[in-house]
Amino acid sequence: MLEEKNPQRTPIATLGEFGLIKHLTEKFSFNKENTMIAIGDDAAVIHPQGRKVVISTDILAEGIHFNLGYVPLKHLGYKAVVVNLSDIAAMNATPTQILVSVAVSNRFPVEALEEIYEGVALACQRYNVDLVGGDTTSSNAGLILSITAIGMETEDKIVKRSTAQPNDLLVVSGDLGGAYLGLQILEREHAVFLANPDMQPEMDGYDYLLERQLKPEARTDVRSILAELDIQPTSMIDISDGLASEILHLSDQSGVGFRLYEEKIPLDTLTITTADEFNLNPAVCALNGGEDYELLFTIASGDYDKIKNHPDFTIIGHATEQEDGNYMVLRGSNELSRITAQGWDALLNPDD
Ligand code: ADP
Ligand code: MG
Repeated sequence: MLEEKNPQRTPIATLGEFGLIKHLTEKFSFNKENTMIAIGDDAAVIHPQGRKVVISTDILAEGIHFNLGYVPLKHLGYKAVVVNLSDIAAMNATPTQILVSVAVSNRFPVEALEEIYEGVALACQRYNVDLVGGDTTSSNAGLILSITAIGMETEDKIVKRSTAQPNDLLVVSGDLGGAYLGLQILEREHAVFLANPDMQPEMDGYDYLLERQLKPEARTDVRSILAELDIQPTSMIDISDGLASEILHLSDQSGVGFRLYEEKIPLDTLTITTADEFNLNPAVCALNGGEDYELLFTIASGDYDKIKNHPDFTIIGHATEQEDGNYMVLRGSNELSRITAQGWDALLNPDD
């Protein structure tokens, strides 16, 4: 899965800032009808055509959010875009444009930026969004990538974190915990490699988990699946920091409590067997791991029949009155365990 680095090393200085921007962006084409002016002018112009504009931005810093020892640059570019598109999807909106800003030290050759932009281009294609601008500067430290995503949606469709009601059902897309275990495997094999560079990494059979970590996908498909089921979510958030911390965000902002059922948390078989190998409880990987980029949302209890058998979604609990707090009903017993936020926090744990 890890790719060979491009062996050529052209210093960025040979192109200069403007030459570099042109070089990296000239292959991008513009497909959205609402993109009016893209890269090349002082600012981009987009035409929302009567819809609301949804905007989100994220910074990824080397050594804090990613480790270039085991993250291929193309994957980094792809993932940086995807995590932003996930935020737009979490508003129940459709992503349309992105802006990409890069700060890079001269230890990176032009070819490194080319690889990042290959990942960016792949994500633009896969999610049908236009790259309409960005900024480029040098950095004394490592690589920093900042991505801004823009989306459009009619006002009645947009879903906030703050509008869940007691008795609403709590639903999640896909399965959880895989990205965290993918990271555990990468870190284990990286440590082995550092200790002995001749050792071959043992990553066979873990493809699904490695992909969940290195090449996650944004659930931009959920919006239309729910529309087809005739379901308008009552609140929604994407799972970037772990199920526990996202439940607490919905709870806090909506003024409700949640009852979560451990046995309902969707886990892939490989997640279960690999968690076992690391002596971890897979449900804890789902609760505290993060980076799964699935969507967590609430729906009115009357919508139960519309969603109950859908393969993309799992009902994992329900909202309660705020005074009832946030608790998980443990598997195999009726015991309750309080949900606490141990979601990964880059500001508190810069070494994570
Ligand atoms: P300014 O000096 O006005 O900020 P720049 O020279 O930085 O202009 O940018 C020129 C054009 O190239 C703008 O449209 C800008 O959005 C775009 N651009 C700059 N850097 C990047 C980048 N890393 N990726 C994509 N577009 C970029
Ligand atoms: Mg600029």
